[in-house]
Amino acid sequence: MSAPLSASKLTITKTTNPKPKLPNDQLVFGATFTDHMLTIEWEDGIGWKTPEIKPYQNFSMDPATCVFHYAFELFEGLKAYKDKNGNVRMFRPDKNVERMNKSAERIALPTFDGEELIKLIGELLKLDHSFIPEGRGYSLYIRPTLIGTDVGLGVHFPKKALLYVITSPVGPYYSTGFKPVRLLATDFATRAWPGGVGNRKLGANYAPCIVPQIEAAKKGYQQNLWLFGEEKFITEVGTMNVFFVFKDAASGKKEIVTAPLDGTILEGVTRDSILDLCRERLDPAEWTVNERYFTIFEVEDKASKGELVEAFGSGTAAVVSPICEIGWRDNDIKVPVNEKTQIGDLTQQIATWIAELQYGEKDHEWSRVV
Ligand code: PMP
Repeated sequence: MSAPLSASKLTITKTTNPKPKLPNDQLVFGATFTDHMLTIEWEDGIGWKTPEIKPYQNFSMDPATCVFHYAFELFEGLKAYKDKNGNVRMFRPDKNVERMNKSAERIALPTFDGEELIKLIGELLKLDHSFIPEGRGYSLYIRPTLIGTDVGLGVHFPKKALLYVITSPVGPYYSTGFKPVRLLATDFATRAWPGGVGNRKLGANYAPCIVPQIEAAKKGYQQNLWLFGEEKFITEVGTMNVFFVFKDAASGKKEIVTAPLDGTILEGVTRDSILDLCRERLDPAEWTVNERYFTIFEVEDKASKGELVEAFGSGTAAVVSPICEIGWRDNDIKVPVNEKTQIGDLTQQIATWIAELQYGEKDHEWSRVV
């Protein structure tokens, strides 16, 4: 029988060469890392080996290792926060390990007991807790990764794998307040398609996103809005899920809408949290909360009738990213933002709701103390 992943077997080797810590205002997303990392090897027939926390270090791998050739790689992104009492908290880590296992299944990498990985990440956070910056907007980004490490050029299922976790102290996405972004609606490239792997967090999904991003940047837009199919369905923005708010001119009723999880959309933890909070906290007499298909034509039409209220991207890095304009063919669709705050009113409300939970200012089962 293959050994399951077990946190109780953990070994810890502490660094003898601690890194200096950067002041908060010098933190750049994903540029510096903490003193330690977690690694766990897996082998077919043996199972998960001893989890190790050790000094952050390079890997040495044969150039024929399968991860370098056939993209046997998947990853996750979540954050740890320090609350005002100095506790370290993770936000919905169960959702990340669940998604990680779904990604692993899709590319024949080994799955594991997610709660065991959460315990191990907790041990890594305890050891490196002094790297977690304090204050609203500051956090420690956690990057669990799983790669195939079989050596050889034949394409086959990996008989060896390596799960590792590194962490990086990060500051607020918008250091000088919210900056709404201009998007270019892209229909020359497709991010994901039915039967594909767009709903899995595979590294292979990300490299092809860069060229459309560069094209958008050349035309003066910060990100691209991904469309799908003849109908030009709105799916995601850059590497975030996307929400739109509409208001029916006749009834005054508002709708918050995002694309449904049909296999082409990444199952964002932030997306799921926003849907739950909106369903729980918005007045149903005024609001509907929908996961449904909608197109760029619907957005264009609603904008022309004054029925487009606001729009934002959602993801772990920024939580919400307000949108102020969408380039589509020869038109720039204007998306309203509150002049004073540079963010839509509901977008701001959602950002506050989520931050209160992440920083443990309000008790909630989603925020887990390590
Ligand atoms: N879509 C894509 C393609 C992503 O890579 C991500 C994560 N960066 C998201 C959406 C948002 O997911 P989450 O809210 O879990 O960060």
